[in-house]
Amino acid sequence: MARVAVVTGGTRGIGAAIATALKSAGYTVAANYAGNDAAAERFSAETGIPAVKWDVGDYESCRAGLERVEGEIGPVDVLVNNAGITRDAMFHKMTPDQWKSVMRTNLDGLFNMTHPVWPGMRKRRFGRVVNISSINGQKGQAGQTNYSAAKAGDIGFTRALAQEGARVGITVNVVCPGYVGTEMVRAIDEKVLAERILPQIPVGRLGEPDEIARIVVFLASDEAGFITGSTITANGGQYFA
Ligand code: NDP
Repeated sequence: MARVAVVTGGTRGIGAAIATALKSAGYTVAANYAGNDAAAERFSAETGIPAVKWDVGDYESCRAGLERVEGEIGPVDVLVNNAGITRDAMFHKMTPDQWKSVMRTNLDGLFNMTHPVWPGMRKRRFGRVVNISSINGQKGQAGQTNYSAAKAGDIGFTRALAQEGARVGITVNVVCPGYVGTEMVRAIDEKVLAERILPQIPVGRLGEPDEIARIVVFLASDEAGFITGSTITANGGQYFA
């Protein structure tokens, strides 16, 4: 039986690359998303991967959504917590809503998605949880106190949960991408990208979504069973944690 993988935010950007790469590696995959139905339909039509819609910021929606997915394709063996948003503002201008929405999706989402599948992984004595954090959760980024705090939280969550999963066959790891060419990054002003961001990246280019996806496929594999609690950075040499 093929292992089952769920990828949050799996219909666009890095998540879509992860879902597609996991499918190519033989997993049965479901890709979660929040609200962009057109992108989700396009993704499903192109890949044959079912898109399942719910908000990772809402615990009950995650619980119910995961129950439906497990009923249809089987118990979740691999969970990739990839869904993320930015709501950038300098701290003195940041609104409580900007703070809360970023924490809710990028940090609460990890609890909301992992908690419902954790007992099953423990019982079956196998599981792979891969969280997608960010270089900005490692180094901090002006204009992103909300995002940097949430993404740093993802790293702490990973390290703590890895210790709980270690004796029951579950690994928990976190990937910290640098700037990857998805809509999230392409939304950055072109001048800022060319003059301020690219010069900071020693390899001189943005990362490709597939370069992150390949790390996730490896972390999900049996071969990666000794790797847990790890932070894998992939940032073109921009920052050494
Ligand atoms: P995109 O904006 O391209 O895609 C985001 C995906 O997340 C979409 O599928 C979106 O769904 C989904 N999503 C957003 N909010 C929710 C929610 N509340 N519930 C469920 N799904 C949600 O993002 P990227 O591919 O650029 O980023 C993916 C991850 O990688 C994020 O965690 C991001 O922080 C991280 N990252 C990205 C970097 C980059 O350079 N791009 C760098 C470092 C980290 P919908 O389509 O419905 O909106």
